[in-house]
Amino acid sequence: MPENKNLKTVRVRFAPSPTGFLHVGSLRTALYNFLFAKKHNGQFILRIEDTDQTRLVEGAVENLVNMLNWAGITYDEGPGKEGQFGPYTQSERLPIYQAHVQKLIDLNHAYYCFCSAERLELSRQRKIAAKLPPAYDRLCRDLDPKDVADRIASGESFVVRMKVPLVGELTFNDLIRGSVTINYKNIDDQILLKSDNFPTYHLAVVVDDHYMQISHVIRGEEWLSSTPKHLLLYQYFGWAAPDFAHIPLLLNPDKSKLSKRQGDVAVEDYINKGFIKEALVNFVAFLGWNPGDTREIFSLTELTQEFSLERVGKSGAIFNIEKLRWLNHKWITGYDANQLALLVLPFISQKYPQVNQLSADHLGKMIKLIQKDLITLHDSTDLLAFYFENLDQSNQAIFNDFKHLKQINQIIKANLPIKDDLAFLPSVKKTAKDAQIPLNEVFPIIRYALTGKVEGYGIQELIDILGLPTSTLRLNNFVAASQN
Ligand code: GLU
Repeated sequence: MPENKNLKTVRVRFAPSPTGFLHVGSLRTALYNFLFAKKHNGQFILRIEDTDQTRLVEGAVENLVNMLNWAGITYDEGPGKEGQFGPYTQSERLPIYQAHVQKLIDLNHAYYCFCSAERLELSRQRKIAAKLPPAYDRLCRDLDPKDVADRIASGESFVVRMKVPLVGELTFNDLIRGSVTINYKNIDDQILLKSDNFPTYHLAVVVDDHYMQISHVIRGEEWLSSTPKHLLLYQYFGWAAPDFAHIPLLLNPDKSKLSKRQGDVAVEDYINKGFIKEALVNFVAFLGWNPGDTREIFSLTELTQEFSLERVGKSGAIFNIEKLRWLNHKWITGYDANQLALLVLPFISQKYPQVNQLSADHLGKMIKLIQKDLITLHDSTDLLAFYFENLDQSNQAIFNDFKHLKQINQIIKANLPIKDDLAFLPSVKKTAKDAQIPLNEVFPIIRYALTGKVEGYGIQELIDILGLPTSTLRLNNFVAASQN
């Protein structure tokens, strides 16, 4: 479906509940909202939906903000960036919700419900046993107003529910899914105000989207079935509703819903595994969207230019970690080595804290050497282990595989100590030529002596990184060990 082309100012929001971590699916929701806002010169708002007081986690908001900043998804209004529509944290807006619940009661679009948790549970069980949807049986919907007033006055605990029409259906246009129709008989008399006087998500989301002048609600498909309730509330309040776009579910490769059981779901997990922001952003952008051609590498800026809701598909998006690894490798390969060194440093220093003593220039050279072999930043630790570890030169078995070992040891010895890194290799070549030993036998042995592996990086670069004394020492140690 084409996007709404009318001229209203684009204001979109990302409205996470602060559960303690940012789910990769939520990162995608945030990204799509951000891209849509930037594309249309609009505003992107962060709103914290913390009305479920049982699920509050200390530090969760800071974590969310940090993760968004890490990804480059910056918001125009939100916690810490107060605009004219704040506060942007729902627990700071309770009087607004309470006043609006009262308004709905006054308009007879909502009612007090005194049903106990036990009664609701029993009724739910009965409905399930009778194979009926486990919706509320509406016992309190038509209570006598006097009775209601008495029960409230006597301090009885209550919730407030919305009155959903008993018959008929509601049709709305979703910018991604097209026309959606839902029969009222499938909609519950949703609780709007809980017994703790906090609103539920459904009430708060409508009130806030209205007062924050949200033009488009772009959110996960799991909220599609809630949209009729929200649209009814807009009607009850007499407000114009925003446009809705529900983006497809994220699926595991076996098409099940992406869950923690099958792998990492928190953005932080991916950061800790050494994925870089460019790759993760590029990856999540493609979970449901594509540019319509074969291009796969997109920076955030390029995404901002090309993104459109029209190119977001309806079907579930498969979360393919191999694709993420491929993208990470691609992005890493394109990085400036000195910049990459800054990203890699925290990973290497976990195992080898001495890396912090190296000059930026030296580390940059080391990273340049391994850059093309990195899939994640984490791989740098293993790839550079040869630099930090003392090599074990006692593997006799490998010596048996080396041809002309004795002569090659002579060639190495003849060129030690290394006094000049540029002169070493030409001199080795000359000595080997004189002794009629092929270079493809000499180099793997020197490389083994320097790194513990016969294959790998150029000897010149290795000596440059290891330095003359360490290179000399390693070659000497090798000769001593392999001569026995
Ligand atoms: N607070 C909801 C969530 O955690 C937001 C849903 C919406 O965007 O309306 O996903």
